[in-house]
Amino acid sequence: MPAPPLVTAERALLEERRRLTRDEALAVAHLPLDDLPSLIGLAHQVRLAWCGPEVELESLINAKSGACPEDCAFCSQSVRFHTGVDVFAFLDLDEILEAARATRAAGATQFCIVVAVRGPEERLLRRVIDAVDAVQRETGLEVACSLGLLQPEQARRLAAAGVRRYNHNLEACRELFPQICTTHSYDDRVATAKLAREAGMELCCGGILGMGETLEQRVDFAFELAELEPCEVPINLLDPRPGTPLGEHDTLSPREALQAIALFRLILPDAWLRLAGGRERVLGELQGMGLVAGANALIVGNYLTTIGRSPEEDHALLEALGMPVADGPGEGRFVVDATGAHARPARRSIPVVVE
Ligand code: SF4
Repeated sequence: MPAPPLVTAERALLEERRRLTRDEALAVAHLPLDDLPSLIGLAHQVRLAWCGPEVELESLINAKSGACPEDCAFCSQSVRFHTGVDVFAFLDLDEILEAARATRAAGATQFCIVVAVRGPEERLLRRVIDAVDAVQRETGLEVACSLGLLQPEQARRLAAAGVRRYNHNLEACRELFPQICTTHSYDDRVATAKLAREAGMELCCGGILGMGETLEQRVDFAFELAELEPCEVPINLLDPRPGTPLGEHDTLSPREALQAIALFRLILPDAWLRLAGGRERVLGELQGMGLVAGANALIVGNYLTTIGRSPEEDHALLEALGMPVADGPGEGRFVVDATGAHARPARRSIPVVVE
């Protein structure tokens, strides 16, 4: 017999088709880890019912690495820490196109151009926009960007250039954020996340788990993200980078990480929940369980500063799990309609399956 908080959550999400309240989510979060199999089972049903069985694949390119003036405590690309990370200016267009073609060959449908900056200055923005155009023309891939803090006009220009999705993570919950970063604020990040959506781009907004947050803060973080109504939520699991302030920090245990993924699925039932950096290090043999615990998107290939496993291994995993690869990023939860208002489109024609 499932624990009462799981019965309540199941009724809410699968029968009443409503989102959980914070108290309901906290009650689930406080269940002992011995209840994890039941929680994972519910998260999987919620994922199937709200999103379908598909898994979206994306690749990243770190198009400008290191020497970032900000001081995010987890990040090896900050100029303030001695991490030995590669430092290079914005890559040549040829290098970006080569990575995009490799993304296509790896079976991914979305390509995200990432740069390590506080926010893009004019010359960088122009080069990114040129690269977006070239990648779209040459590969047909959907292009996402992650360029840091934006001004309204910059967001509008990126949207007009065809950038489908803008990534800007909150990284941590409001309460923890000042311990993670002092050079910009949590509200700065929220403002850019809102700007991206207002400009008509889909919002990709998540963060890093395992940076010392309490279980309650982890739940609050998921609710803070849900308030921004992101189309995609990347979940990074802290993989401590030597030389950063969090370089000696413990990682989550695999069971804690699976619990967190499942909780995020219950709180964000209709988002693309993407397993991102740290999955290999933290989940190890249990990576497949992450996809059964509610995640429905992966980054394939390498991450920004760490090596991922081969795309072939991920395709083999998806085949073994019977999870089809999504043929595109899917429709975002919000689009700008002809009047400029945000309308909520139906998701793609994914059958609702409740087991
Ligand atoms: S997370 Fe982004 S803004 Fe923060 S230091 Fe790293 S590259 Fe800079």
